[in-house]
Amino acid sequence: MSHPFTWVPAEEQRHASRDPVPPPALEFPPELTVSALCGREVFTATGDIPWLWPTCPDCDRTTRELVGAPPRHDADEGDAR
Ligand SMILES: [Zn+2]
Repeated sequence: MSHPFTWVPAEEQRHASRDPVPPPALEFPPELTVSALCGREVFTATGDIPWLWPTCPDCDRTTRELVGAPPRHDADEGDAR
């Protein structure tokens, strides 16, 4: 099963992007500029440490809407939009 987005660590947050990943890779190569779901253009990173960066809250919210998942409850409380 595939979702219409790919998670990508970039600029000290984990973002999600709908840009196509260059095949045959399953994730973006580093040092690429991609359009994240939060509306930012981000410069990708790779490796173990970047995957531990915190999730971009805007990308998190958008991907949950896309897959129909409930919002996370452990996020900080600034959800009043
Ligand atoms: Zn983002």
